[in-house]
Amino acid sequence: MDFAPSSKVREFQDKLTAFMEEYVYPAEAVAHEQIAASGDPHHHPQIIQDLKQHARAAGLWNLFLPDKTYGAGLTNLEYASLAEIMGRSPIAPEVFNCSAPDTGNMEILAEFGTPEQRRQWLEPLLAGESRSCFSMTEPEVASSDATNIQTRAVRDGDTYVITGRKWFTSNAYHPNCRIAIVMAVTDPEAPPHRRATMILVPLDTPGFELVRSLPVFNYIGEGGHAEVRYNDVRVPVTHRLGEEGSGFVIAQARLGPGRIHHCMRSIGGAERALELLCKRAASRVAFGSRLIEKQTIQNWIAESRMQIDAARLLVLHAAWKMDTVGKKEARKEIAMIKVAAPNMACRVIDWAIQAHGGAGASDDFGLPHAYALARALRLADGPDEVHRNQIGKLELRSHG
Ligand SMILES: Cc1cc2nc3c(=O)[nH]c(=O)nc-3n(C[C@H](O)[C@H](O)[C@H](O)COP(=O)(O)OP(=O)(O)OC[C@H]3O[C@@H](n4cnc5c(N)ncnc54)[C@H](O)[C@@H]3O)c2cc1C
Repeated sequence: MDFAPSSKVREFQDKLTAFMEEYVYPAEAVAHEQIAASGDPHHHPQIIQDLKQHARAAGLWNLFLPDKTYGAGLTNLEYASLAEIMGRSPIAPEVFNCSAPDTGNMEILAEFGTPEQRRQWLEPLLAGESRSCFSMTEPEVASSDATNIQTRAVRDGDTYVITGRKWFTSNAYHPNCRIAIVMAVTDPEAPPHRRATMILVPLDTPGFELVRSLPVFNYIGEGGHAEVRYNDVRVPVTHRLGEEGSGFVIAQARLGPGRIHHCMRSIGGAERALELLCKRAASRVAFGSRLIEKQTIQNWIAESRMQIDAARLLVLHAAWKMDTVGKKEARKEIAMIKVAAPNMACRVIDWAIQAHGGAGASDDFGLPHAYALARALRLADGPDEVHRNQIGKLELRSHG
């Protein structure tokens, strides 16, 4: 295994870092002010729109897509270190058109979409002109086991009629969100993993109802996390993604790279928190010495460095396995980082909060938001426990 970045990746890292320093970090407060001034937590700030155009012109665009037809043609391993840089700021992924859930949605549209679906939905997403959401989780059933989902899509001539209730449909409140990829049961009699199908639902289809925006640890992100009702939503069968009954196959395909991206971003979030911790501890004096001279704080710093580096190596290893032996063969490594990275980020950010004293709990340093993002990731894309179960089973299998 050689995890040294290629010259191409080093060039992207340098460009991305310079762009972050010159434009993205200074824009964080501006975006915050523009949202506050609008009075709408789902407002799309102009500064993000402007930076998107700028990032695109600079060639820092769609870096996540390994397919050269659509993206930068980087492997998962190559993209991982770039996602880490983007993960340092909550606004960065959208600026570079590399944000969830669009990345996963673009990947499956590229892989499973018909030419017409790609033209209609993928192209505007690639251009950053529209946004999308992914609608699988349901309030009524334990959705970490997606075979439980109940939303129905009933075939009626050349259409599907979709009825059901979803929640945590992230990004549905984004003003540019145009399309939902909905997982619905098309054949309740089929074996559990052949029951569901993914269907593309334009948000302006009659019957698509945004019920409410769910705060996550009291944060309402720009695109929000929506509760959605599908009230007899009728779409043509040509809106089906892949074959009927292939919902689980596509869901699995979607989650592989998506998890790598999330995990790498958590590492960037943890790095930024550690940087803040060190700066604060170096400048603050309590009981006669700087915080940095106290052994407890030094322990936090040392533990943070070890845990971040360990998580990064796990993520790079998972990315490398995905590139070399495929998503299926790499499923244990993918599950491992899905647990390790956000748990590590939670610990490091928590130490940074503690070292800041009361300021750490305020919004002045962005730490509570970073913590909320990392903590939510222990649930989003499947809770820790489900991944741990999978790791345990695969480990046992390898011992016969
Ligand atoms: C910020 C955020 C964004 C999200 N975005 C999306 C999105 O865009 N689209 C979407 O469809 N969903 C999204 N989700 C939903 C997320 O995928 C689900 O919350 C998650 O899969 C868990 O499902 P559930 O909430 O129904 O919990 P449940 O299935 O009810 O599980 C509850 C708890 O039970 C425990 N548990 C479950 N299974 C096991 C097991 N096998 N062993 C031991 N313990 C177990 C775990 O502790 C788990 O947290 C998002 C969630 C969050 C928090």
